[in-house]
Amino acid sequence: MRIAVIGCGYLGAVHAAAMASLGYDTVGVDVDEAKVERLRRGEPPFFEPGLPELLRAGVDAGSLRFTTDVAEVAGSDVVFVAVGTPQLAGSDAADLTFVDAAIESLLPHLGEGTVVAGKSTVPVGTAQRLADRIAPTGARLAWNPEFLREGFAVQDTLAPDRLVYGVAEGDGAAVAALDAVYATILARGTERLVMRFATAELVKVSANAFLATKISFINAMAEIAETVGADVTQLADAIGLDARIGRRFLNAGLGFGGGCLPKDIRAFQARAEELGHGHTLGFLREVDEINLRRRDRMAQLVDAELARVGGDRVGMLGLAFKPNSDDVRDSPALDVCRILEQRGRVVRAYDPEARETAGRSMPSLDIVGSVEDAVRGADVLALGTEWQEFRELDPVVVATQTDARVVVDGRNTLDAARWAAAGFKVVGLGRPEVE
Ligand code: NAD
Repeated sequence: MRIAVIGCGYLGAVHAAAMASLGYDTVGVDVDEAKVERLRRGEPPFFEPGLPELLRAGVDAGSLRFTTDVAEVAGSDVVFVAVGTPQLAGSDAADLTFVDAAIESLLPHLGEGTVVAGKSTVPVGTAQRLADRIAPTGARLAWNPEFLREGFAVQDTLAPDRLVYGVAEGDGAAVAALDAVYATILARGTERLVMRFATAELVKVSANAFLATKISFINAMAEIAETVGADVTQLADAIGLDARIGRRFLNAGLGFGGGCLPKDIRAFQARAEELGHGHTLGFLREVDEINLRRRDRMAQLVDAELARVGGDRVGMLGLAFKPNSDDVRDSPALDVCRILEQRGRVVRAYDPEARETAGRSMPSLDIVGSVEDAVRGADVLALGTEWQEFRELDPVVVATQTDARVVVDGRNTLDAARWAAAGFKVVGLGRPEVE
């Protein structure tokens, strides 16, 4: 089977490497020459655990190629579309320019029997429009939304919770083509759900809306907890033990970020408004606002501690929007750095993997190569991303590297009692301070 993947970013590069690892002759296409050049050498253009090995294996075996020439998709059985759908500038809606351009570029190379499988997250209604666009070529469309999590992308691609196929009514051929592609994964008993285009599109955005709502729910509880002196972590443990609620995605802190959840809930709401359902999804605006408020709150807490100790230097640990990723798109940690800089504070930051991406996104930020360098000279420490490296820090050692005696833990991730025993005041989000 021959597979093509259009768009080789966080989703597409992993998908292409995974397809090659399943034994398919795979070509990845991207318009970004520098990215393609790196991928050709078997080097991931971003940090993702397990991807370097998978890429190298495919490239070395000759089953995985990368190109900027879309004509190389000709003859593919399935063409996955994994280009970006970012937030449109000046609007909440999704920017479909890249999806539309990718489909237009494919048209001359599609033929009878080819299946174009969309993986990008798109507003409901997009798939039908694209299906109509490619119909004259004889190719058929399926919408096969992707649920991978950065940091677990390889595992999530090769062992997903479920596979969702959106197809045109009665299009057994598209289902059969996707079943063939995912045969190894399906053989392990993975659930596969076949549905209409509109349902498949909605499954993806509603899953993200639900996850975002769960995080903002607990962060709203954190706001209340801060006022009344309650501990949101204990609250989450207690309500999370109810199997109907569940403990996962119930960690209060700096909230969600990245290239998906924030823009997806905005785009979903914008689409709902177009459909006359603005009111129906009005709560997503609250979800977004609660989420963004946590960034201001963290900056406020850091600021208050700086004022208390009479300093202005912050040692920031973590910049990526989540651990095990170098992605800083809409990163809460980076936003906190921005707010603090705007307030005239001096931030020195360290992240295990996001140095380059954060440096490009915020050139003014002083980014150093180790925890030790970030904390040296700081008046207040702050934690913005819950990397394992930070969880494992020995506060007794940190205390020898810095004069700061307070840490604002934006992810409620440090062992507060241990840090307090080492002489630090620990300020969490939604929790009483520990000294
Ligand atoms: P990304 O920005 O990392 O990658 C998109 C890639 O598409 C870029 O490399 C870009 O150069 C390329 N591209 C743009 N136009 C192109 C064209 N016409 N032809 C070929 N290549 C083109 O974005 P991403 O994070 O990989 O997300 C891609 C899509 O997948 C989005 O819709 C996103 O919402 C969705 N998604 C992402 C994740 C995730 O965790 N990143 C998870 C699930 C779904």
